[in-house]
Amino acid sequence: MGEARENDPYEEELLDYEEEEEKAPDSVGAKAGGEAAKKGYVGIHSSGFRDFLLKPELLRAIVDSGFEHPSEVQHECIPQAILGMDVICQAKSGMGKTAVFVLSTLQQIEPIAGQVAALVLCHTRELAYQICHEFERFSTYLPDIKVAVFYGGVHIGKHKDILKNECPHIVVGTPGRILALARDKDLSLKNVRHFILDECDKMLESLDMRRDVQEIFKMTPHDKQVMMFSATLSKEIRPVCKKFMQDPMEIYVDDEAKLTLHGLVQHYIKLSELEKNRKLNDLLDALDFNQVVIFVKSVNRAAELNKLLVECNFPSICIHSGMSQEERLTRYKGFKEGHKRILVATDLVGRGIDIERVNIVINYDMPDSADTYLHRVGRAGRFGTKGLAITFVSSASDSDVLNQVQARFEVDIKELPEQIDTSTYMPS
Ligand code: ADP
Repeated sequence: MGEARENDPYEEELLDYEEEEEKAPDSVGAKAGGEAAKKGYVGIHSSGFRDFLLKPELLRAIVDSGFEHPSEVQHECIPQAILGMDVICQAKSGMGKTAVFVLSTLQQIEPIAGQVAALVLCHTRELAYQICHEFERFSTYLPDIKVAVFYGGVHIGKHKDILKNECPHIVVGTPGRILALARDKDLSLKNVRHFILDECDKMLESLDMRRDVQEIFKMTPHDKQVMMFSATLSKEIRPVCKKFMQDPMEIYVDDEAKLTLHGLVQHYIKLSELEKNRKLNDLLDALDFNQVVIFVKSVNRAAELNKLLVECNFPSICIHSGMSQEERLTRYKGFKEGHKRILVATDLVGRGIDIERVNIVINYDMPDSADTYLHRVGRAGRFGTKGLAITFVSSASDSDVLNQVQARFEVDIKELPEQIDTSTYMPS
């Protein structure tokens, strides 16, 4: 990895802390039936963005972003979405679902001063921040359109001021804060024409969040466009999603079994809990990486493991829900900008987060479900680029999850070989 560091073997065991984080309901379900699988995997579609007849201001921003061709999910969804259709869409991580709703919202919005016309809800603050950034990027040449992001952990007065003094046309946020602003009547939702849920399964599976989403939804007008997106949409959650929609267009870009990521090399290592630190150390020394995300199962383990890595002179930071929002965001931005190369994280950043340079994901602790596995490893190999995922397996229940992953996503995860060819996982 080229990072000079002192050779400081530090083999102390990580204390086994209790899990503190809210566990996502295990939605490992039956395989998707025949309704999916339109075509095989097509990374980049051959048609151009011009074929969508988008506003010239948007096309210009698309060119600036370096997008040359729409991905398959963009090709399938954008033409319908810009006509105002309700859309429910499942497509692999990293295939550009964000641009689907960002572009189709920007295409349709006619900004009216003082009116919020689009509302995007997602489950974490970091993701909200990232989505807002995408709106800003694609609206560069649409200066009249204002976007704002609201989430908890920031003084609510600040958000109220923004709503009063420079009311955005597009609001991105997490449900708790959006609901608080709407209940206090600072945020009026009566002009919302586009209602979007990203990582919709996550938002609707957790009953607390579902309740908030429902309450927010009820404050919006009946007549509006609803769009929902995720990489994992179990059969159980689909009818729940559809309750919010009217005759939606359902787009399942791939059969669920094929959701596993093509450019991604996946391996596991069997070891005991005690051997994890030594092994991680060796891997970080031996592997070539641009940036790596290491997932652990609790806030305390994130903090402890990060401490350990820093003591061993690795350029590491951690991020978890135990820190203040400001701190979380500063760290997230710092990592995204490449100031650190290793991020130790909980499932807080397991979904949605897009960091281009991440080419390795290590599951230091096994995720709790096959779904979570898929979302985590999707942090490497974004938009069809190469990547490597290594999972530590240290108990019978870890092996169970690994088997579920292999059965459900039709992927053969092999033991990590002694030598691994860098060119299989490093972007050229
Ligand atoms: P998803 O939401 O499906 O997980 P994202 O929307 O986060 O994926 O997109 C993954 C990455 O691919 C982002 O960095 C995004 O800017 C990039 N991307 C999206 N669409 C295209 C495209 N058509 N061409 C090139 N890059 C794209």
